[in-house]
Amino acid sequence: MNRYSALGLVRGALGGHKHWQPAWRDAEPKPSYDIIIIGGGGHGLATAYYLAKVHGIRNIAVLEKGWIGGGNTGRNTTIVRSNYRLAPLHDLFEFGLKMWEHLSDELNYNVMFSPRGAMFLGHSDADMTRLAERGDAMRCSGIDAELMTRDKLAKFEPLLDLSRSARFPIEGALIQRRGGTARHDAVAWGYARAADGLGVDIIQKCEVTGFVRDGDAVVGVETTRGRIGAGRVGICVAGNSGHVAGLAGLRLPIESQTLQAMVTEGVKPMVNSVIMSQSMHCYISQSDKGGIVFGGDPDNWPSYAQRGIPMVMDGAIAQGIALMPALSRLRMVRTWSGVTDMSFDGAPIIGETPVKNLFLNGGWCYGGFKATPASGWTYAHTLATGKPHALNAPFALDRFRRGDTIDETGTGPMPNSR
Ligand code: FAD
Repeated sequence: MNRYSALGLVRGALGGHKHWQPAWRDAEPKPSYDIIIIGGGGHGLATAYYLAKVHGIRNIAVLEKGWIGGGNTGRNTTIVRSNYRLAPLHDLFEFGLKMWEHLSDELNYNVMFSPRGAMFLGHSDADMTRLAERGDAMRCSGIDAELMTRDKLAKFEPLLDLSRSARFPIEGALIQRRGGTARHDAVAWGYARAADGLGVDIIQKCEVTGFVRDGDAVVGVETTRGRIGAGRVGICVAGNSGHVAGLAGLRLPIESQTLQAMVTEGVKPMVNSVIMSQSMHCYISQSDKGGIVFGGDPDNWPSYAQRGIPMVMDGAIAQGIALMPALSRLRMVRTWSGVTDMSFDGAPIIGETPVKNLFLNGGWCYGGFKATPASGWTYAHTLATGKPHALNAPFALDRFRRGDTIDETGTGPMPNSR
């Protein structure tokens, strides 16, 4: 019988799948590793993969308290872009964007990267001036950016409300055509499988509860599955950065806040690109399944709750509908939240900490998914060599002490960069 026949499918569904190999091993913790990564999100898994692949370090464990990709990696709205004005930011994100273009080949796993264009709308002369400046800064670094007039926009996104009577009239947009979206789960699974193939131990349901110290150095971690020794430890826990760093006695310039997103029922293609409006505090895109994905502001107070409040959700939906009135006819089917690690200048923190052998990758706010490959690549360099990579050097933790912050107001869809 043809194993792809309808009968075959029913049999498979009722009888369970046979001969399917797990995509990665369910590893038991060893007594010690050269490098331990705390956090099995995209950043932690990518770091482990590049440590093994590029630096040849194979004795590595990724410790995840839940399941891999169950944090912000599996909860984000998957926007990938490098349209930042400040050079340290657009250099890092552009390095990542170039990696996205080949990531499916690199991992032999379809991460469904879809460069459909990512745009910021301008709603006033001041907005358009800011967008033009941002585009100029990007082009000076060789990154594509294109200002769109209202006429061009009307052809590109015909369902936008471009009438003069719109609540926030649209004057134009800055589009990065190489930006777009990717499939979040696939990124975690692809990196996990590839890292496992290089000998990395991925250990789920293993929460780090403390650090083992020898004088001023970290030499291991305490976990819910026992003590594990480590040469170096890399924190990669997104919204839990403050808590985990606190276990080593560090206080970070990071606040954990809830960020929500929502998706409608699936419909035929109606939104061509990723549309973000900083003035309206919202963004929309269409998933590959057809649902319209909405996002907006974080809840704006510290919380570790992975659920947000209806008021903020309401605001994002109302603004999305004001941008594209046809969306009002759709039914919302799902909302969810993640805990984001909001740094005080809106930029990530990557590098060494004051504790010997302990490194930090966090503070990605609501924009770290797009950085996954670049973050993994540069953090792997730092963990392998103990030194900054040229692209993550500006993001050192001690920049807050030195007053050398990277504060690009409006780096995300929201006008306040945090
Ligand atoms: P995570 O995927 O959160 O992984 C960290 C892991 O650490 C988690 O799995 C957690 O369980 C684990 N962990 C925590 N504490 C411990 C411990 N003590 N021991 C062991 N494991 C631990 N970014 C974009 O670029 N584009 C977007 O469109 C976008 N949209 C977003 C929308 C929402 C609703 C949210 C919440 C975020 C969004 N982001 C977006 C941000 C992005 O999701 C994150 O910056 C990025 O996914 C962080 O990846 P990570 O691997 O560092 O974290």
